[in-house]
Amino acid sequence: MAQTIGFIGLGNMGGPMAANLAKAGHTVRGFDLVAASLDAARGAGIAVAGSALEAADGADVVVTMLPAGRHVVEVWTALCERVPAGTLLIDSSTVDVQSARRAHALAEARGCPAIDAPVSGGTGGARAGTLTFMAGGTAEAFSRAEPLLKAMGKSVFHCGAAGAGQAAKICNNMILGISMIGVCEAFALGEKLGLSRQALFDVASVSSGQCWSLTSYCPVPGPVPASPANNGYRPGFAASLMLKDLRLAQSAAATAGAATPLGAEAAQLYALFEALGHGGEDFSGIIRMLRGGEAPAAEETAASA
Ligand code: NAD
Repeated sequence: MAQTIGFIGLGNMGGPMAANLAKAGHTVRGFDLVAASLDAARGAGIAVAGSALEAADGADVVVTMLPAGRHVVEVWTALCERVPAGTLLIDSSTVDVQSARRAHALAEARGCPAIDAPVSGGTGGARAGTLTFMAGGTAEAFSRAEPLLKAMGKSVFHCGAAGAGQAAKICNNMILGISMIGVCEAFALGEKLGLSRQALFDVASVSSGQCWSLTSYCPVPGPVPASPANNGYRPGFAASLMLKDLRLAQSAAATAGAATPLGAEAAQLYALFEALGHGGEDFSGIIRMLRGGEAPAAEETAASA
């Protein structure tokens, strides 16, 4: 059923996600603080509003896709003073679990069903409509949101109560950050031992070292042609975004009293990588730092070995 949707935050992810909702036949009114994002939205069938509250005015559903927890709490505080009870609120930003729960509490006090529904799949997935959504909230709120999430993504999971979507997101990305560093260290060691990258890949990809960081996103050029290593480590998934997620995991671990020593180490290594000026590179580019410098001259020859 076609709905009227307010969409707040039309950046790299929100812009194409809102465009996919419009393509699916919904009426979408969008708002962003940046004029260039509003121009791009106009060209994608989105009506542009003059403020977040104007975008939400008369909407059945409001979606937010903002940088961090403080932005979400600020926008939801304003929304929850204005939207009628019953308006469905969805936040798809990646934020800390506490901010997500705070946003849920604001919505509940207003009588609005709400879900936290962060995504994985990056800007490519946002454009293609193939994102994975991890949702937290009541079964009723989830069942209302699910058809809209399916218009923007391929896989949609209900992970549990308020904040469970954010919890799933940061736990998954902590696995990813740690496993990528493990795969990078193995290739850096293999190189020093004179092992060809292809030989290491052939063995590990069908052995107990197998993981997504190796077989789908290999951090050296050659074995997985589509991985950013073959494209000068252009993102992909920027190292600064990986650092953001690892920090969220560390803050959640401290609050919950969970021991995550490898997550802490991964956060420190990505913080160093960013401090060295590589935050805009793909996160698999950390192999160059772990080698102790830039790629060795043998890189291209080994890639074709
Ligand atoms: P972005 O910076 O491109 O977009 C965020 C947008 O929010 C910006 O255009 C900004 O102007 C706007 N904004 C900020 N405050 C606002 C306000 N008060 N009202 C209206 N607009 C406001 O970021 P992005 O890459 O689109 O990421 C958005 C979220 O999705 C982040 O939480 C990020 O961690 C998460 N995420 C990003 C990726 C990715 O690959 N880019 C992947 C998964 C999740």
